[in-house]
Amino acid sequence: MPTIAAISTPNAVGGISVIRISGEKSIGVAEKIFRSTSGKKISEMQGYTCAHGAVVDGEDTHVDEVILSVFKAPKSYTGEDVVEISCHGGVYITKKILRLIFENGAKPAEAGEFTKRAFLNGKLSLTQAEAVIDLISAGGKSELKYAIALKDGAIFRRIDKIKRRIISVLGDLAAWADFPEDDIPEVDPENLLETLKGIYESLVETNKTYDYGRIIREGINTVISGKPNVGKSTLMNCLSGFERSIVTDVAGTTRDIIEETVQLGEIKLRLSDTAGIRKTDDIVEGIGVNLAFKRIDEADLVLALFDNSSEITDEDLKLIEKLSNRKSIAVINKIDEKSALDRNLINENFKYIVEISAKNNEGIEGLINAVNEMFLHEDIEAEKGIIANERQKNCITKAEELVLDSINALEQGELLDAITIILDEAAAYLLELTGERVSETVLNEVFSRFCIGK
Ligand code: GDP
Repeated sequence: MPTIAAISTPNAVGGISVIRISGEKSIGVAEKIFRSTSGKKISEMQGYTCAHGAVVDGEDTHVDEVILSVFKAPKSYTGEDVVEISCHGGVYITKKILRLIFENGAKPAEAGEFTKRAFLNGKLSLTQAEAVIDLISAGGKSELKYAIALKDGAIFRRIDKIKRRIISVLGDLAAWADFPEDDIPEVDPENLLETLKGIYESLVETNKTYDYGRIIREGINTVISGKPNVGKSTLMNCLSGFERSIVTDVAGTTRDIIEETVQLGEIKLRLSDTAGIRKTDDIVEGIGVNLAFKRIDEADLVLALFDNSSEITDEDLKLIEKLSNRKSIAVINKIDEKSALDRNLINENFKYIVEISAKNNEGIEGLINAVNEMFLHEDIEAEKGIIANERQKNCITKAEELVLDSINALEQGELLDAITIILDEAAAYLLELTGERVSETVLNEVFSRFCIGK
């Protein structure tokens, strides 16, 4: 494999920049452009040590004062010989050094190529490599906690355990089928059924963690809903901290759906403020209302706004009806005004009820607490491993369906050969998930999500 190099820090002015070189020739390449202050050669340096010195160009002209670190294979991020040069953080200097590295034999690294090599050299499992992306982009504490757990290999271990159970069943089936005369105990369909059901449950449970992971990573897809003029735009502005949607006294002016992402403590909300729920002949407003209902169907959370200063209306009733069986919080707005709202209906229909004055920024803390309580205290521990992305989700869903198929086949009295074929395929999907048996296309897809230098 060619020796590769790239700038691993952002392409911007900063205190220092780091250029990483990885591959068989990395020490040789670096040797050509580096003069250490002590006179020691890079090839004489131990792994995990660094040297002070200067980068020089072809005429031995000083380019920059740098610190050079050496990591020797296999004890490096990529598993290959790696040299990292920390230079002054100017864009010009950094690019000049990178150019010198290329001129002396390294090739430009592709997006994610360092991490891809780490995977190919067995330094990381595929799920751990994917977690590196999440670590880089973690925006909150819980997001970080979950990314770290993934990086530690939690999901790999979780899937590996299930996979081993399937493979053990496959082993029993094969032994029995291939060596019937050898006194191998007969596979008991009852026992087999129990085992398969246990495997299926583990798969279902693991698959469920995807939604939780998605919520932590991408934020809760939240819709602010309620009749016109109840204060949706005001709440949205209040949560996002600045004016985005148009706030007006004329009912029905928020026609478009406006989106905003806000970090509320531990949790990220992806907010959309929808047009009022209202029976209307106005076509434009009508489109907004349909869209609002569609958004409710797709949302992880609905903040249902009610106006403390007015009585319950048909529109409120429609919203309450629409929200049965959906994760929602009743938000009673305008508590700064005299109450005219009959709370009974709200009390009966909502588990979470908070009172706010969006206009005066009051009660927002209570709303944030309710959201955190709803979403952070699920029985899902990041440490046990969480399905992190669509790729992993697809693999586990396929495996889950196949194990269910095998259960059905067994119950219908199919031959054990048929069960073997189905389970074999299920195990293959789990091997694809962990990256132990994965196609080049899938690998390229995973690593294309990285930036250059990672
Ligand atoms: P939307 O149609 O649901 O988006 O409602 P808006 O956010 O545009 O608010 C409608 C009106 O209600 C505006 O005049 C707001 O200033 C007012 N409003 C919003 N929140 C409160 C509140 O907490 N108290 C009072 N008194 N008025 C509010």
